[in-house]
Amino acid sequence: MTHPAQPKASHFINGAYVEDTAGTPIPVIYAATGDQIATVHAATPAIVEQALASGKAAQKAWAKMSGTERGRILRRAADIIRARNHELSVLETYDTGKPLQETLVADATSGADALEYFGGLAGSLTGEHIPLGEDWVYTMREALGLCVGIGAWNYPTQIACWKGAPALACGNSMVFKPSEATPLCALKVAEILHEAGLPAGVFNVVQGMGEVGAALVTDPRVDKVSLTGSVPTGKKVYAAAAADMKHVTMELGGKSPMIVFDDADIDNAVGGAINGNFYSSGQVCSNGTRVFVQKGIKEKFLARLAERTGNAVIGDPMDEATSFGPMVNENQMNIVLGYIEKGKAEGARLICGGARCDMQGWYLQPTVFADVTDGMTIAREEIFGPVMSVLDFDSEEEVVARANDTEFGLSAGVFTKDFTRAHRVIGNLEAGSCFINSYNDAPVEAPFGGVKASGVGRENSKEAIKHFSQVKSVYVRMGDVEAAF
Ligand code: NDP
Repeated sequence: MTHPAQPKASHFINGAYVEDTAGTPIPVIYAATGDQIATVHAATPAIVEQALASGKAAQKAWAKMSGTERGRILRRAADIIRARNHELSVLETYDTGKPLQETLVADATSGADALEYFGGLAGSLTGEHIPLGEDWVYTMREALGLCVGIGAWNYPTQIACWKGAPALACGNSMVFKPSEATPLCALKVAEILHEAGLPAGVFNVVQGMGEVGAALVTDPRVDKVSLTGSVPTGKKVYAAAAADMKHVTMELGGKSPMIVFDDADIDNAVGGAINGNFYSSGQVCSNGTRVFVQKGIKEKFLARLAERTGNAVIGDPMDEATSFGPMVNENQMNIVLGYIEKGKAEGARLICGGARCDMQGWYLQPTVFADVTDGMTIAREEIFGPVMSVLDFDSEEEVVARANDTEFGLSAGVFTKDFTRAHRVIGNLEAGSCFINSYNDAPVEAPFGGVKASGVGRENSKEAIKHFSQVKSVYVRMGDVEAAF
């Protein structure tokens, strides 16, 4: 019997599901059991061509609709997503393995927020009038054209919507390629957008590995590339896009610091560290994986952290009581196990976890290392799994310098009751998305993105509009033209 997660076809192009079984089969494995639940096929060159051609053909008419009309369609799609939240959350769980307890509140709902927010903004995208005596300049905010979105595997519904919603609000069309590890959810987003009235060709989804992504990025018809992925992939995609002067948004990896001062509320700081390391089994780009704890409270912090980590309910992701699920796939589990072994070998002190769970599926124990030093591999490289490194520090000046000593700059957090210090420290940290006495909140109203190697551009908020549109300025002369000859 066909599994309910099996999509109607691999791709969604020009308003309809499309199949081409000549493409390499991509098995979809449910992370909680290791069972194959669906198959899709990578896009062949013919499928890539169909998607790009339909995106290109649909864009101009879409941009000519009023912003209010475009926004109405996006907001209708948000309503449909909310009405079907349970079904879409179950699919997200099949796609990623993340527990339903999370997917019910963080995935389709976050996608709906983006569609609602950018749907609301679409009618307000205007230029300005610049008076120059008798003459004047007016500006117009125009769409970029055809955009490519490429997603990572940790938040497949959210990433499709975070890229699609602002792109479409501005009058662009999009071809979206999900990660081959999680191909299911973006197809549903496309289906729902069309059910909401989106014209055919405005939002298309094609499957495939890196080479399909590369074919999309290098096509001359494409005006903008928005990637969510690792820093090495980001460097390749940015370079490929630059060859044709394409616009880019790069949402890349991190190794973010979370700083806990002696005066912090310990339970809140422990809660922040748990959210910032173990949510989605640690597969979150903005995670605060370097937890710097001031020496005075270190042992108290570690004791409370170990106690609360022991309360994680590890098990069937479809059981709403489960609070900690498997890794997305066997490969990612093995990568993370490799880092855990490095942590042990390099002398970090294992506080809890440190091994695979003795059960079916790709489950790892939530793992905490203490006495981690700045040079250790687990303190320098992005692990993308449930491995927290706790480092100690003495002074504010010292911790800020150490926190900034990384190529990454996605996020940073500070826990302290001294608000003057909190703002001063945040002001000195090199990161794009920061938190005071909290961690990993990502409301659509707030800009999201990194500095340094963690990225270029911003998603969400009004900032995202700037990255999916461009300004045309028009000088209007009322009198005669003066010329030298
Ligand atoms: P990857 O960088 O491996 O892949 C990202 C996407 O790019 C995938 O769809 C991949 O395809 C595609 N891709 C790979 N090579 C190319 C290429 N040459 N040209 C075009 N596309 C290509 O990342 P992961 O999927 O492993 O995701 C984890 C990473 O994503 C982590 O580093 C994480 O920090 C980052 N991330 C960043 C976020 C942010 O907003 N800053 C949010 C979430 C994750 P395929 O994998 O199918 O081969």
